[in-house]
Amino acid sequence: MLTPEFSSASNRLTIDLGALTDNWRAMNARSGSARAAAVLKADAYGLGIDYAAPALYAAGARDFFVANAEEGAELRPLVPDGRIYILAGMWPGNEALFFDNGLVPVINSDEQLAVFMAALSERGDHPCVLHIDTGMNRLGLSVEAATALANDPARPASFSPVLIMSHLTCADEPHHPLNAYQLQRFRAAAAAFDGVDASLANSGGVFLGAEYHFDLTRPGIAVYGGEAVNGVVNPMTPVVTAEARIVQIRDVPAGGTASYGASARFERDSRIATVAVGYADGYHRSVSGGGVTLRQAMPSGAFGFLHGRPVPHVGRVTMDLSLFDVTDLPPGAARPGDYIELFGRNIPVDDVARAGGTIGYEMLTSLGRRYVRHYVGGA
Ligand SMILES: *Cc1c(COP(=O)(O)O)cnc(C)c1O
Repeated sequence: MLTPEFSSASNRLTIDLGALTDNWRAMNARSGSARAAAVLKADAYGLGIDYAAPALYAAGARDFFVANAEEGAELRPLVPDGRIYILAGMWPGNEALFFDNGLVPVINSDEQLAVFMAALSERGDHPCVLHIDTGMNRLGLSVEAATALANDPARPASFSPVLIMSHLTCADEPHHPLNAYQLQRFRAAAAAFDGVDASLANSGGVFLGAEYHFDLTRPGIAVYGGEAVNGVVNPMTPVVTAEARIVQIRDVPAGGTASYGASARFERDSRIATVAVGYADGYHRSVSGGGVTLRQAMPSGAFGFLHGRPVPHVGRVTMDLSLFDVTDLPPGAARPGDYIELFGRNIPVDDVARAGGTIGYEMLTSLGRRYVRHYVGGA
């Protein structure tokens, strides 16, 4: 049921939970004998963890990754018996969040290991994940340090990770040599943790093939319908449709200009739709059809989709408004009140992202709070 609020919204999101769960099932199936987790950090990549988590749980997901303990505490009541892993790990001072909410810290460094061990001696047994750096140089113990830890006879019996993990640097580029290198490094570490579950693959890693899957995969972006691999047709189903309303239609004669900095210049008599979305909504200024720095590097801006065809963005995106050139639509087709698709089934979110020099992940996680959200479908 469409609410009146949705039907009259200036801009709005339709979030298809059926597509979300189909995507998760597809990634779970692609993970072969490994089970797929669901990555729910950053409010489920901007889609809304309150809706995404129960839908993915109902579809069968039982392992969940979020970035920090606050996100984990928010997730806990949504997946009461799910395993929740905290990628940023434990700090001195936030131990209680882990013990009170049954959150599993990822141990990323010697310092975090010390914090965790101290927490164990104070509060008793608790599971953990050990993060091993195999080439990203972002987080994790070195393979050597992890192996030494595994073989340390003085290692406290209470330190027994339920999972070892590493993160791929170039999983979106299937032929990058770092993939095979990281795989080989991770295998060496996994050998030292015999019998402990292992996890290497994000979405892109799942597509790299069975040897990358180990026991648990961690797909994020693909579940949300985004591109996980560069240069191939995205096989996932779009989950989010963003739309915004035409506030006004204006005719600008040849030679005229529009938007800040007179950034749109029209060589022909043009019809322009002023649409209620701007950079405050996460429709980044860098997707502008003209008039922003970087535009030489990325010559064309974003497209919207209206009455069956793509319409180019023109001029600069402003805080609340954007201009689209609707001159090529049949006369009278574009009307005030119509909704333009900003991205969704017709305009892939990654295409808009590319126009702005960024990635679908960033478009989704910066969706603004003004959008009226409507969730459809379910597990
Ligand atoms: C975000 C994240 C993922 C998910 O990555 P996608 O590319 O979105 O599939 C997996 N693992 C770690 C460690 C992450 O930070």
